[in-house]
Amino acid sequence: MGTGTLHIDLEAVAANWRALDAKSARSCETAATVKANAYGLGVVPVATRLFSEGCRAFFVATADEGLELRRALGPEPRIYCYYGHMPGDTATIKRADLVPLICSVDQLTRHLETLPRQPFGIQLDTGMNRLGLKMWEWAAVGELALQAEPVLLMSHLASADDPDSPQSAAQLALFHEMTDGLPMPRSLAATGGILLGPEYHFDMVRPGIGLYGGMPFAGADPVVSLDLPVVACFDVAEGETVGYNATWQARAPSRIATIAGGYADGLIRALGAGMDVMAGPVPCPVVGRVSMDLLTVDISHLDRDPESLRVIDAHRRVDDLAAVAGTIGYEILTSLGSRYQRHYRA
Ligand SMILES: *Cc1c(COP(=O)(O)O)cnc(C)c1O
Repeated sequence: MGTGTLHIDLEAVAANWRALDAKSARSCETAATVKANAYGLGVVPVATRLFSEGCRAFFVATADEGLELRRALGPEPRIYCYYGHMPGDTATIKRADLVPLICSVDQLTRHLETLPRQPFGIQLDTGMNRLGLKMWEWAAVGELALQAEPVLLMSHLASADDPDSPQSAAQLALFHEMTDGLPMPRSLAATGGILLGPEYHFDMVRPGIGLYGGMPFAGADPVVSLDLPVVACFDVAEGETVGYNATWQARAPSRIATIAGGYADGLIRALGAGMDVMAGPVPCPVVGRVSMDLLTVDISHLDRDPESLRVIDAHRRVDDLAAVAGTIGYEILTSLGSRYQRHYRA
């Protein structure tokens, strides 16, 4: 048996895609970012569901992710790779008919030399300083690149999750400066950028986290829930301690449940202090350190021992756990390990 059961609601993913799609004009295509195994939720079921919903453009990070997706979805959808055209990717890009999003001058040269007829896009750096051609590089090689007719010009916002950040407007202005007047489709917005408003949408938006129920898309339907079975329940006397380094001490006689999940399953160690799990409607505090495969929970206030406890649901979302652990929903979601049994609701 797996450590627990991760329920993934594909109808909610589809509803989130439709809701994000409705935020942009009809002329703006809504793609889906499904890198990192669809943020840990399973790229094949997620992308298959979105394809049947009408999504025809998918973004992954690596060419290998693109190949897996091509096998699952067949020839029709466009599959773009954020890592661009890396050394060793050429055969995969060709075989899986991927659209590498070229992110350096080296990559541009590699692509035009090895696969001159394979469609490609261009990533422009408008201030995030992570991937993409800088202004001066674009000035130098833009003409060469444009002669080869890229199918997409894109950039990425560094602070789109914070509507008060002035960085988004600055990046928007630079993106205009670098691309205005060019005939090819443009894309700037991920989830955060969609919510910033229509001036950020251009011809295509490429949400990820919002599809999976995460912030900054506050209106998202919840997608995941997680139940962990109880392995054992026992009493501890007043003054006894629980777990590694004895960080929790019983102030009264207490009953503890040990449940099947730990930091190897994405319940990262920083969650230990301050996290509640649910026995039906009743919150129960996690006590002591998170172990690799186990959590210990104070269930003294329950009238009977539970069979399982719920860690994530509609009221206790990935972003709430992230807040406890001092991280972001993206990290919790992508950490949820591979040991869980996965149940998909179509
Ligand atoms: C991951 C990623 C996205 C999707 O971002 P979300 O915030 O998850 O919507 C879009 N574009 C690029 C370049 C990315 O790396």
